[in-house]
Amino acid sequence: MVKESDSGRMRRLGEDELSEWREMISQLGDVTLTDSRDKFKLANNGKFVTKSMCMLMLDGGVVDIDGKRIWKEKLLLKIKIFLWMAMRDKIHSAEQLTRRNWKGSDLCKLCRGLETSSHILFACPIAVVLWCWVVSYVKQWEKLRGQRQRSRLMWIECS
Ligand SMILES: [Zn+2]
Repeated sequence: MVKESDSGRMRRLGEDELSEWREMISQLGDVTLTDSRDKFKLANNGKFVTKSMCMLMLDGGVVDIDGKRIWKEKLLLKIKIFLWMAMRDKIHSAEQLTRRNWKGSDLCKLCRGLETSSHILFACPIAVVLWCWVVSYVKQWEKLRGQRQRSRLMWIECS
């Protein structure tokens, strides 16, 4: 029986809870308490503060510079999210869905190539045509505006 709340009500532990309780008790058997003060190793001063715990939870350890750059760009949030997902190969391509036991075909419906994130965005002939159209549009737009600054899309060369 475990006290459920300050109201004093008691309830029985379920089988899973009882198993977890026993496991916790066996792990705590190795713990020896002393009179010394505990030190929180994640903070420089050794004191636990919520901020340091929050920073630990938010910090994945490795900084993804390109991923961070996306969030600073002046784009619609849904585009930022899409780019972030594309960088991590998390777009729901047929190949991704097949890995999750999807029963459909993993071939591109347009060109019959293997439908990966890379294929959807860059390799599919339809994507290449679209990118060429975007680049030519941006070039025309910049020419009209008289800008000398190179666009970020200019690295794409259409042949
Ligand atoms: Zn395709």
